[in-house]
Amino acid sequence: MSLSEFALIERFFAQRARSGPQRAELGIGDDCALIAPEPGELLAVSTDMLVEGRHFLASAEPQALGHKTLAVNLSDLAAMGAKPRAFTLSLALETPREVWLEAFAQGLFALANRFDCQLIGGDTTRGPLNLCVTIFGDVPAQGALRRDGARENDDIWVSGTLGDARAGLGILRGEWPEGLFDEREHAALRQALDRPEPRIALGLALRGLAHSALDVSDGLAGDLLHILERSRARASIDVDTVPISSALRKLPLDTQRRCALAGGDDYELLFTAPPHAREAIADAGERANIAVTRIGTISALRHASEAPTIAWHDASQAPLSLTLHGFDHFDAN
Ligand code: ADP
Ligand code: MG
Repeated sequence: MSLSEFALIERFFAQRARSGPQRAELGIGDDCALIAPEPGELLAVSTDMLVEGRHFLASAEPQALGHKTLAVNLSDLAAMGAKPRAFTLSLALETPREVWLEAFAQGLFALANRFDCQLIGGDTTRGPLNLCVTIFGDVPAQGALRRDGARENDDIWVSGTLGDARAGLGILRGEWPEGLFDEREHAALRQALDRPEPRIALGLALRGLAHSALDVSDGLAGDLLHILERSRARASIDVDTVPISSALRKLPLDTQRRCALAGGDDYELLFTAPPHAREAIADAGERANIAVTRIGTISALRHASEAPTIAWHDASQAPLSLTLHGFDHFDAN
């Protein structure tokens, strides 16, 4: 089956975009789309690309891929405290197959409609499977949750649980003993990997409360360093307070920690806020219907040239030396 590029765009994407949320002045069909932010606000823009073999396996279910392609971009808006407005979709496809495109579009638009985000354009070409979304959101000029705002004595918080997506990947790779997880746990870990839930409501609720934030995509250890480097600060983390699901707890302690601290693909929000905001942050989590957990503290660098670092300790305050790295996409892993 071969569909012309135009027919493919119309059938699987443009039609659905017209019947979904309308958040742009002009959508698909012209040389450019036209969008305006809310009056007095800024446009938050982010791009994320998913490449077969690198970010997903050739066998990945297309509906889940449609979900995840948009979800990782929505997660960036969440981490900025931005409200979704619109996105573009650039696709390279080896051979366009109707069944695949239908399922992919279903996964994509289910999420787009749920978060009121409009598909406004893109590009479609032949090539090894490659999925790229650029997303646009609205954020008040002073309300954006940036990486460079962490301050001395801030609490460090994280949403949800960490490490589940890495454990889900371990299931696919056959890394865990057969039969370790029951059906429900198995489904929950696969869900974390295949269908991450962008924490948009939490990001919006943290406006004006959090001093800094990002979404955890490459593992807590690596991503927290990004906040520390941008904010010129140190952190101490109580590893025993890092939220871990009951499913992940079935793995040996060192494996749990490796998954939760350096697993990647979590798409939870990591943020800092002053201690006086604790109650307000707990309320924000409740309103957004997601658990928020305090896992550590920000401190000042001891001298101007000190490199930002993370000090890890356990519940008994015993220091832990962890050689942890987030995923580095230029590494062999
Ligand atoms: P151009 O040659 O001007 O780049 P295209 O023929 O590539 O135009 O695209 C025609 C229209 O369809 C444009 O509005 C473009 O944004 C949109 N479009 C192309 N591919 C996609 C896609 N995968 N999803 C949504 N819109 C798309
Ligand atoms: Mg084009």
